Amino acid sequence: MRRLMAANWKMYKTSEEAAATIEHLSKLLGGSAPAGSEILVFAPFTALEAAAAAMRSLQGGYIGAQNMYPAENGAFTGEISPDMIRAAGASWVLVGHSERRHLLGENDEFIGNKLRFALEKGLDVMLCVGETLQERENGEVSAVLERQLSRALTEVPETAIAHLAVAYEPVWAIGTGRSAGPEDIMKAHTLAANLLEKHFGRVREVPLLYGGSVKPENAATILALDNVDGVLVGGASLQAESFTKIVTA
Ligand code: PEP
Repeated sequence: MRRLMAANWKMYKTSEEAAATIEHLSKLLGGSAPAGSEILVFAPFTALEAAAAAMRSLQGGYIGAQNMYPAENGAFTGEISPDMIRAAGASWVLVGHSERRHLLGENDEFIGNKLRFALEKGLDVMLCVGETLQERENGEVSAVLERQLSRALTEVPETAIAHLAVAYEPVWAIGTGRSAGPEDIMKAHTLAANLLEKHFGRVREVPLLYGGSVKPENAATILALDNVDGVLVGGASLQAESFTKIVTA
């Protein structure tokens, strides 16, 4: 299984800052991602083009957008289409990030629409799933993962497998400094792996990432767990030094 090391820059970095961080990252890594790994940077829309240009200096590095609207074009003020994302030089898109689910009110159906449309338009998609603290305390982790995955993957064909990744990001671990423990990560990843195998009817080939307060100090332990094929990193990916430590963990 290929390893995906992903950075989510959220609403941070101008285009100049994004390019400088990627150039720094590339320098620290000697111009290429570690063997068997791919590096993904989900940059703000305004920085996609500059980030993509800077990423040419890092072999095995790709740029993604953090969001998109599921339509070709049209009267959707403030939204961005997959074609616009691709034209800016990005090849990935994040779909279903918890900040969009919970702060911006996106539901499973809308996320499913985005996922299908992005794939149709030739983008690679990282689907984020994960439970809130309340749902965890109510014993609903399995039910939430099953619901989020099955609704997002409705009518997603087997041909999508090569263009899909799933990130398990417990909402209570994002940006809180409190990562999920190894047991919780393994349980959730085993569940997600089984659901993916059931959906596609074959041995899992879709990479499964963990996200939520990943740092240089805990990355190696998390990456060594069964069914963990990479990490999605917010805060600790903003500085090239700390993201390099995670990428090489
Ligand atoms: C994220 O934004 O997807 C994330 C995991 O953030 P952080 O690493 O800061 O918890």
